[in-house]
Amino acid sequence: MVGPRVLQGESLEAFNEGIGYILNQCFALQTVIDYEIGDNNSHPKLEQLIADVRSWFAHSKEPHHIGELTILIKEGMNTAFDLVIRDGSAEDMAAKIMGIRAQCIVGNFENIKLLREQGKMNVLLLHSSQCDSAHCRYPNCRQMKGLFYHAKRCRTRIFGGCVICKKVWYLIQLHARACNKSECNVPRCSDVKEHRRRLQQQSNSQQRAGSSDGNDVEVANNAG
Ligand SMILES: [Zn+2]
Ligand SMILES: [Zn+2]
Ligand SMILES: [Zn+2]
Repeated sequence: MVGPRVLQGESLEAFNEGIGYILNQCFALQTVIDYEIGDNNSHPKLEQLIADVRSWFAHSKEPHHIGELTILIKEGMNTAFDLVIRDGSAEDMAAKIMGIRAQCIVGNFENIKLLREQGKMNVLLLHSSQCDSAHCRYPNCRQMKGLFYHAKRCRTRIFGGCVICKKVWYLIQLHARACNKSECNVPRCSDVKEHRRRLQQQSNSQQRAGSSDGNDVEVANNAG
């Protein structure tokens, strides 16, 4: 069965949902202002940008140019948060959005599902790392704090094969990959970033050593 070539119905809904996740996720991860979680897990100011991106797709003619989308995202972030994005993440977001659009067109919603899960996890991670209410009603906050508590005290740890620690580590890795905060409340986030920075340095010096004899060495820094 050949999927519809245009976005409509379920695919359009999924795509619009995906736009929200991608922009929210990126924003939540590298936010410079406090992230207040609303009912729809979105920052009110970000809602405007999400709406703009959705309507850009709905109203601009095919083919949609990724460059224009990137500019739209940059300008939107700038207007809403005074945030000037230069680290390539606007390009990343635009590419991701284009990517899921292509998938939605052919009825592939796997990545949307994944984003949905990751988005929920990230918001929860950010919330729980800043929450000091013992009786918090935020869904799964207590479970998340339980994981943090465990990770701090566990003696088996990942090396010993602890499944819980593995889970916590995975969540933190996901978060830290895009976190730009110098002082982040998420436990171990700064350790992960420090570790990544060292790997980066290592591969940079390897690159320099490699290129001295004329070879261009490509080193993959990002696993996954
Ligand atoms: Zn809480
Ligand atoms: Zn453990
Ligand atoms: Zn962080």
